[in-house]
Amino acid sequence: MAAVKDYSVEEKLVSLIKLQKVDSKLDEIQILKGELPMEVSDLEDEIAGLHSRRTRIEEEINGITEFIEGRKNAIKEGEATLKKYEKQSENVKNSREFEALNKEIEMLQLENKLADKHIRDANEELADKAKSLEGAKKLISTKEGVLNHKKGELEKIIADTEKEETHFKKLSGSAREAIDERLLYSYDRIRKNYRNGLAVVPVERDACGGCFNAIPPQRQSEIRLHKKVIVCENCGRILVDADLNDSIEVK
Ligand SMILES: [Zn+2]
Repeated sequence: MAAVKDYSVEEKLVSLIKLQKVDSKLDEIQILKGELPMEVSDLEDEIAGLHSRRTRIEEEINGITEFIEGRKNAIKEGEATLKKYEKQSENVKNSREFEALNKEIEMLQLENKLADKHIRDANEELADKAKSLEGAKKLISTKEGVLNHKKGELEKIIADTEKEETHFKKLSGSAREAIDERLLYSYDRIRKNYRNGLAVVPVERDACGGCFNAIPPQRQSEIRLHKKVIVCENCGRILVDADLNDSIEVK
């Protein structure tokens, strides 16, 4: 790195701005990639959960349907027995036998009424479950649509950014070559310290573009001269004037 030529401070500042802009582009790519895979896997989890909800509802529907069948069969059997009892009652021998038979008949009629009520209740439950099932199915197809969209987006970003990433990495490398080691070291250190990855910031509205701490007019004039590398006293970021910052574009 000792081979760095004698660049003027202004040239160094320009390289720093260039480097910052290129690195910010690389950060953006990372952010784009960083969130989509998570969104995709969250959606996949959610859809798996919805599928098991659907299966559970379907099993409940099967259970209720079986229950209704069972009750219907019980009613049929009850009615057959009733017919048998009615026939028996035609030739009973005494009143004691008659009463006993009557009790059996009453009991059976009551049981059938109860079975009828069970069937009505179960049918209501069935209607509720059918609604839930419909809801779950709709949600699954909506979420699957979103998932497919996100997956497509992610694949596209990966395909697109491969080229961009290589391009900006090359630019980053050449910008670094024009900056001396000491400056690069502080640049990298500051960038690592801040979540937004900004180490070089413009002065905006008389304040540091990184931490918004006010910059005195005297210091602002110094910054505009491009004769010294000036850092923010509050956050340590390298300060550049907005005009110089705006004049540099990376693509
Ligand atoms: Zn600051």
